[in-house]
Amino acid sequence: MLYGVFSDVHSNLAALDAVIASMKTRGAERFVCLGDLVGYGAEPEPCVQKVAALADVCIFGNHDSVALRRESSSHFNQFARFAIEWTQSQISEESQQYLKKLPYIVEEGSYCFVHASPKSPADWNYITSLDEAQEAFEFFTTRYCLVGHTHSPVIVVQDELGQNLRVLDAPAYEAKDGERVLVNVGSVGQPRDRDPRASWCLVDDQLGSFEIVRVSYDIASTQRIMEQNGFPAFLVQRLELGR
Ligand code: ZN
Repeated sequence: MLYGVFSDVHSNLAALDAVIASMKTRGAERFVCLGDLVGYGAEPEPCVQKVAALADVCIFGNHDSVALRRESSSHFNQFARFAIEWTQSQISEESQQYLKKLPYIVEEGSYCFVHASPKSPADWNYITSLDEAQEAFEFFTTRYCLVGHTHSPVIVVQDELGQNLRVLDAPAYEAKDGERVLVNVGSVGQPRDRDPRASWCLVDDQLGSFEIVRVSYDIASTQRIMEQNGFPAFLVQRLELGR
């Protein structure tokens, strides 16, 4: 079975459409969204509706939580806060009900799916160092874990002894016997690794393989809709910079 795993859509409909088309072209049959459907962008409602119609598994993200007012936006920077407070008035009752039911973490077969970190998922810890990655491996029992949240795709491999970690340079990997793998699938709607293309991960459960796929989309059309809705220039411009 091929999985299409994606995260951090952030209300960017053109990017989401491009990723869905790419996942289907590559033969993905089971679709997993790792959260943050909304925030930052200006098309929350159609993005939630589209993910709800597509995803077999969908995880709850920190921006989804603030959009529902489950937690406050006080820890967000001014740009993220602007976008999420705007979002609160834009999403339908139906979409709110969908977001409300999303789980923080799901284990399915060999995979753990979570937005930020398997270590207390509702605390939204970032995994940005080898130490944090090593610790994360202690908090899931499956062989593989897929996360989002940082908006920077990366594949981390733990050796068969459970001791050494390797951060891969390559965007694809097939796990060897005994190895465990932690994958950050990157972001659909707001990539931050200086590559503005949308990101998702093709997962093959027969091969035990992972491939980060990058997809071009019409950035200008997304930016136009943000401008029409009075979004801060910083949020508009960062999309073309990929940061
Ligand atoms: Zn995010």
